[in-house]
Amino acid sequence: MPNKLVIRNIGLVLSGDLDRPILDADTVVAIDGVIQAVGKEKDIDTSDATTTVDAKGTSLAPGLIDSHVHPVCGDWTPRQNQLGWIDSCLHGGVTTMVSAGEVHTPGRPKDIVGLKAMAIFAQRAFHAFRPGGVKVYAGAPVLEQGMVEDDFKELAASGVKFLGEVGLGSVKDGVTGRRMVAWARKYGIQSTIHTGGPSIPGSSLIDKDMVLETDADVIGHVNGGHTALPDSQIKELCERSPRALEIVHNGNERAGLLALRTAKELRQMHRVILGTDSPAGSGVQPLGILRMISMLSSLGEIPAEIAICLATGNTAKMRNLNCGLIAAGREASFVFLDTAQQSAGKNLLDSIQKGDLAGVGMVITDGLITIQRSRNTPPATRVPEVVK
Ligand SMILES: [Zn+2]
Repeated sequence: MPNKLVIRNIGLVLSGDLDRPILDADTVVAIDGVIQAVGKEKDIDTSDATTTVDAKGTSLAPGLIDSHVHPVCGDWTPRQNQLGWIDSCLHGGVTTMVSAGEVHTPGRPKDIVGLKAMAIFAQRAFHAFRPGGVKVYAGAPVLEQGMVEDDFKELAASGVKFLGEVGLGSVKDGVTGRRMVAWARKYGIQSTIHTGGPSIPGSSLIDKDMVLETDADVIGHVNGGHTALPDSQIKELCERSPRALEIVHNGNERAGLLALRTAKELRQMHRVILGTDSPAGSGVQPLGILRMISMLSSLGEIPAEIAICLATGNTAKMRNLNCGLIAAGREASFVFLDTAQQSAGKNLLDSIQKGDLAGVGMVITDGLITIQRSRNTPPATRVPEVVK
């Protein structure tokens, strides 16, 4: 018998789609983890549900995506020697994470056989293990000198889908970077480049010339990680490259707002995607993506429903993921949001635009309830209820 999830009595459906961020709907039905129907309850077949959730008038958004994390193994990070950090992010509404390289691994192998083995191990391990229920797309090898086309072919055939940040390994020139990124692309592996000053001792500056020449699919932390490029270079990247503009929490906030405003002026908001770049020297921020949404909406003066698209549909499109949108055929991963208790905002969207964080009342991953009221966000005024 199929697992049928019915979510009814939704106050506001935030689709994640920049072109149509709010849907005229109050009900979502998913079968075996895939969204089947979105619309008005009277128009949808809600019979024979295995699970029914009464949203109690709260808002439903796609599960948030963190486009930039550095996992290592299991739910542990050596960066701040912390356990359970991924599970904590689930309580911030994140259901999907993309690895920008398992670079914090103690003793990280830098020889080619070793780096390939580590990438394949990380891909397999996180495919089989979802900390708290979060899907982590890991196994992101960092480019090192001496890699040849066959290495990318082999990695792709082994299930590797993403490169770690270009620039964190020994490849630090645009000519080599461009050649390797093109090999990766040929075999369906997506690439990200580090942008800005060094993150930690041992990494180095990647300026706009190297970013433009390498032409990776994602301009990783365009607002620096944490040291940003000069404003003129950030603007040039927005104007001259067609690639994704990733803004991260562990970056320069002012530079992030500059990138957002430039993308808005260029009418290229679809390129803006969000990540945390955690774990980092600043630690792990379980509410990092929610904080980015509120920061960019309030200080960047964009509607909250648009800011949510940056962390959902935009990232899914740029990263070729089947989540991030509330639409038939997409993964049934959701976060239920409501105005935090005592917020000065009139409603959820107004509270985000005023800079407050949303309260998370429930998270669903692939059609299964992973948490109810978040232990980390300010308490949501209303929370959904499982009625069956
Ligand atoms: Zn970086």
